[in-house]
Amino acid sequence: MTEPLLTVRDLVKTFPGRRSRTGQPGAPIRAVDGVSFDVGAGETLGLVGESGCGKSTTGRMVVRLIDPTSGTVNFDGTEIGGLTQAQLRPHRRHLQMVFQDPYSSLNPRQTVARIISEPLLVQGSSAADARKRASELMELVGLIPEHLDRYPHEFSGGQAQRIGIARSLATSPRLVVADEPVSALDVSIQAQVVNLMERLQDELGLAYIFIAHDLSVVKRVCDRVAVMYLGRIVEIGEKHQVYSNPAHPYTKALLSAVPLPDPAAERARERIVLLGDPPSPAAPPPGCSFHPRCPKAQEICRTERPLLRIAGPGGREAACHFPEN
Ligand code: SF4
Repeated sequence: MTEPLLTVRDLVKTFPGRRSRTGQPGAPIRAVDGVSFDVGAGETLGLVGESGCGKSTTGRMVVRLIDPTSGTVNFDGTEIGGLTQAQLRPHRRHLQMVFQDPYSSLNPRQTVARIISEPLLVQGSSAADARKRASELMELVGLIPEHLDRYPHEFSGGQAQRIGIARSLATSPRLVVADEPVSALDVSIQAQVVNLMERLQDELGLAYIFIAHDLSVVKRVCDRVAVMYLGRIVEIGEKHQVYSNPAHPYTKALLSAVPLPDPAAERARERIVLLGDPPSPAAPPPGCSFHPRCPKAQEICRTERPLLRIAGPGGREAACHFPEN
């Protein structure tokens, strides 16, 4: 990997638990529970896992849309995790986010020109410069600059996501956190948006954190992948290692559900069906939090939490007492 642009260490986010009917506070919810990873300049790290595993919360802490409970976020040599919003402003231009639902992430009452220009205006650009840049960005993401004065509802879902991407690029960021950027789009449009993101990465040298539950999309776009379960990373490594030879039983189960292009291979392969839903982060199981659903669980798994450690060639890491090699 290239030198880390982003270094995240022991990131934790705890939300207050729901109050009971009698007003008693519920157990706090540890949505992210000690997550660490690096992202190199120009690299794409995939963050995958089932709904509620903490991947979106992790992404939002990286760009400081929400504050971490504890842990550090170092971006390009600066510890940004504890900065105030005013202190963060000069760094924010380099850290941007693309959201899942293109329509709900764009203000319906603002023109596209205003939407794309806003981050530049916040950074102190003049209105004329911001509009000129918005026009360039429309072209960059494959939209017609003459449509700048239209409103979001006048665009299709794929076009609206392109507007969201254009907005995220307005300040020439070095890292974009893309939270399920294609999951709300039709399959045919998904490919176009993924192509666009790859092209922009090549042209602009962007790094991405690509958050998704669709492992096929992640396989296509990522250099490395981190698999999350109940607020923790359970496996992280180079894409080809994780996909071809998963070390953690959870990764193995997720990958067994990804359709294979070859119908014969699809018929022949063994599908691992996980029982039940992930446990609540308000009451995580002791030991390995995956043990109630793990087909390989043994006694030690119920009492001792496995730490992330090297599991197999190439530095790939897994948090499992009995990783596959
Ligand atoms: Fe399964 Fe045990 Fe590994 Fe957890 S530590 S994933 S329960 S084998």
